[in-house]
Amino acid sequence: MDDKKKYRALLLAGLGVVGLVLVFVLQPERGKWWRHSGVVWATEYHIQYYGDRDYSDSILEVFRRVEMSVSAFAHESTVSKINDNRSDSVDAVMAYMIERSHELCRITGGAFDPTVRPLVNAWGFGDDDMALPDTSQVDSLLRLVGIDKVKVVAGKVVKQNPATQLDFSAIAKGFGCDEVVRMLKRNGVEDCLVEVGGEIAMAGRNSERKLWRISIDTPEYSADSVSRASMLAFSMSDCGVATSGNYRNYRTAADGTPYGHIIDPVTGFPRQTDVLSATVCAPDCTTADALATAFMVLGLERSQAIVDANPDVKAVFITADKSGSLKTVFSKNWSEGKR
Ligand code: ADP
Ligand code: MG
Repeated sequence: MDDKKKYRALLLAGLGVVGLVLVFVLQPERGKWWRHSGVVWATEYHIQYYGDRDYSDSILEVFRRVEMSVSAFAHESTVSKINDNRSDSVDAVMAYMIERSHELCRITGGAFDPTVRPLVNAWGFGDDDMALPDTSQVDSLLRLVGIDKVKVVAGKVVKQNPATQLDFSAIAKGFGCDEVVRMLKRNGVEDCLVEVGGEIAMAGRNSERKLWRISIDTPEYSADSVSRASMLAFSMSDCGVATSGNYRNYRTAADGTPYGHIIDPVTGFPRQTDVLSATVCAPDCTTADALATAFMVLGLERSQAIVDANPDVKAVFITADKSGSLKTVFSKNWSEGKR
């Protein structure tokens, strides 16, 4: 090889090395843990995921889309228009919510039913502040209740009675969590945890490459606040977890008895059962959220029967015995992760 060729070979080799170094140095970072928190639907959200970019704008967009469909607090939402009979158009989120509600109402023997809205308002938990209803008022409102009276036909909602109204508060947060997880997964994210007001949807592993660690609050009534001391912690993933408890949102009757914001759609009355709080783990957070609410209505025995009949659902209940001391009861299939 003459000098010229040697020089050219050396130059090429040198350029190759420089090129490799540049490729190595300039290679974009493959991913990192992102953490976002904020306020949505009058509650806090906390989100973490491993990804190659910031999805906070997309997350807010998901929240906005859910809100504009199912929030009864937004005057221009699809549900508000349906409730006021201003429109019968159904968007994709609403169609899904109504379809799931039929299924969840069936699974819970009618204990979960979003058509309880007129009763929720009558008992003072909606946007109307009125005196407590008597039995005859409850009976007349009960005639409007029943998701079987609401159907979607060719993209339009058909209500048997125009006065029937929908309230998706019991599943909106859980559904919002599911929607954020679905959006992240569509973008290639594998590991994430999305929490909105205590309801959680999760996938993959945490930053230590372990299952996600979830803790459950102890319910405690107090004069002006609610104690939320953590009592139990579990490891899990690829599911949704939701907790319902009347202790977080209750009013006090004239005789001083506290009553909760969960209404039995069968009797039309707020229902206080032996279950103070129900935490449900299900394949998705919408299901977990609906079941947790229904279990407050159903009490321990009937709730346990529903868990037994649905193998992909687990639950842990906090019950109070006659002396008022708290007891934790696990569904038979919840063995893993007990502390
Ligand atoms: P939280 O919002 O405290 O997490 P839930 O998920 O249990 O509680 O939702 C309770 C809300 O759902 C009530 O405030 C009311 O708007 C509505 N609701 C009450 N009873 C029922 C019921 N039996 N089925 C469906 N929704 C209900
Ligand atoms: Mg719920």
